[in-house]
Amino acid sequence: MKCVLCPRECNVDREQRISFCGVGKLPTVARVAPHYDEEPPISGTNGAGTIFFSGCSLRCVYCQNYEISALSKGRVITPYELSEQYRRLVDMGVHNIELVTPTHYVDAIIESFRFYRPELPFIYNSSGYEKVETLKRLEGLIDVYLPDFKYSDNALAERLSRCPDYVERATAAIDEMMRQCGNSVYEDGLIKRGVIIRHLVLPSHVKNSFGVLQIIKEHWDDRIPVSLMAQYMPAGKADEYPDINRRITKREYHRVLERYYELGFDGFAQELTSADQKYVPEWDF
Ligand code: SF4
Repeated sequence: MKCVLCPRECNVDREQRISFCGVGKLPTVARVAPHYDEEPPISGTNGAGTIFFSGCSLRCVYCQNYEISALSKGRVITPYELSEQYRRLVDMGVHNIELVTPTHYVDAIIESFRFYRPELPFIYNSSGYEKVETLKRLEGLIDVYLPDFKYSDNALAERLSRCPDYVERATAAIDEMMRQCGNSVYEDGLIKRGVIIRHLVLPSHVKNSFGVLQIIKEHWDDRIPVSLMAQYMPAGKADEYPDINRRITKREYHRVLERYYELGFDGFAQELTSADQKYVPEWDF
């Protein structure tokens, strides 16, 4: 079957040809483990049950997880084996199952639920570059959406992620996520249902961040918590792009934080010290 799962609509048989996302239809998994560095309502005390998928339908040049997103390192598993990973994580006592970069494996994820779907909240952690039709297939299966909103400037999106329609796609996708899961619901400090938007501040592009915050404010006002991320480190092919070949400065981050508070956002803001290699997980496959 030819793949049109994401806005790229490559229309290729992923078993026969290498596609944009770089992987076949069966999930390639780079890491399955409790993760303690997500937002507090996601990690809690026992950790989020993360499953890091390899390959990516966005493939930003600066990807912090370049080894798995672009080089597709990992182990190929079946939908049944994926369901067994849910069971492993449940046995470890995690608070939820977090599917990280899952877009290109939506078919396998839906199939995995035929074997086993634990009662824990399922979190869909994505780049925000999604097709509404694909998201609709997940209605009732995903409890929490955790999309990025990376760009307000489509020219920058084109240059760094080869997606000149990012703003429109991410906006429509988050509208659909809100339709499915709505305002966030918490129990004992842990998220059970809802949407949280993440935004990674890029060096030299404070205006892009201002624009992202403005779009979120205008579209969803204060209905969606926003998580501001300061963890950018040059990775992947960032050394070919002088403007992003460094960490963000204190001044850049503070300007974005100031705008975040001016607009009245309530959510999460990382410390600048989170830009450290020790926060990149080990890809132990
Ligand atoms: S999921 Fe991969 S193959 Fe399918 S349309 Fe997107 S980039 Fe292309």
